[in-house]
Amino acid sequence: MNARHLYVHVPFCARRCTYCDFSIAVRRETPVAAFLGGLERELRRVGAPADVATVYLGGGTPSALGAAGIARLAALLALKRPPAEFTIEANPEDVTPEAARAWVRAGVNRVSLGAQSFDDGVLAWMHRTHRAERIGEAVRSARRAGVGNLSLDLIFALPEALGRDWRRDLEAALRLEPDHVSLYGLTVEPGTALFRRHGRGELAPCSEQRYADEYLLAHQRLAEAGFRFYEVSNAARPGREAVHNRAYWTLAPYLGVGPSAHSFDGVSRWWNEPAYARWVRLLAEGRVPVAGREILGDHQRRLEQLYLGLRTSEGVGLPDPVAEPLRQTVDRWVASGWAVLEGGGGPPSAVAAAVAGAVPRLRLTPQGWLRLDELVATI
Ligand code: SF4
Repeated sequence: MNARHLYVHVPFCARRCTYCDFSIAVRRETPVAAFLGGLERELRRVGAPADVATVYLGGGTPSALGAAGIARLAALLALKRPPAEFTIEANPEDVTPEAARAWVRAGVNRVSLGAQSFDDGVLAWMHRTHRAERIGEAVRSARRAGVGNLSLDLIFALPEALGRDWRRDLEAALRLEPDHVSLYGLTVEPGTALFRRHGRGELAPCSEQRYADEYLLAHQRLAEAGFRFYEVSNAARPGREAVHNRAYWTLAPYLGVGPSAHSFDGVSRWWNEPAYARWVRLLAEGRVPVAGREILGDHQRRLEQLYLGLRTSEGVGLPDPVAEPLRQTVDRWVASGWAVLEGGGGPPSAVAAAVAGAVPRLRLTPQGWLRLDELVATI
């Protein structure tokens, strides 16, 4: 497979966060050797590309592999040349000066740090393993080691009863001068500890209004600080947009290895067995760890292009001319302030102007991004 983007899923976490429904393996001690053994077998089996533009180590907690583990993982990839972007997702407690230096020596040039909040009470409620002061220490360790591209993850829309001060957390994040910020609006997923607590009526979820207020406040403060939202959940300083994630949003081919990792060759998509123990056993037995596969038909491809395009600040190109009933829908979005039509004027002539000669390109505004799923469902 001729992919230019490689994803490695490292499934281990020391414990499960309150809200997390990801496919992870909770381990007090990370089984580094067993995992890398499985990975080596899978890389051999799939014939992993040696010349890639991006590598992304996601999880779980890739940083739990430690200094030596990441160095060995990078050696297994046997890359011909350093990729333009080599990201590791890290939890703050794992980013020691020694680990950060070892990761940089292994080729890592971007760290995505799971900060989430700078409030110790909130971090404890989330069941995170770090305290707020560790976030700054981790950023300084990464910077001193030579990490030139650093992203912070923050969670917003927490239950109001927690008394979380979102503005204060945004300011604390900006003081650390990240290159990139990823936002996650808290959702209550079945099977999580949070879901059970909601079921018992212990904690009311954040209201829609508060969700919107916090999302829009992040847009305002990050824009003032020189960031640009280039995707519904991601803001970057100029030139610091994540290259790897763009591959997903543009339906470029990518290869994923590790439990639950997805791959896409431009036509079909397949995904690995999600349970770590089964993934590693299948590979040890010389069997294929793929759990499922689908072919992307034309209709599905168009839907995904539409959804993924509207997630990004690039938006989507519209058919020219824009036919009914799409034309009415687009005019309504523009009139409501949810979207802008490139090259067009205001409603109701927006579509007409685009059709008359301007490039009909539709982009969602922050207010539109708040309704992304609902809007896509109406097309
Ligand atoms: S660190 Fe991330 S992957 Fe691990 S339990 Fe927490 S949210 Fe889930």
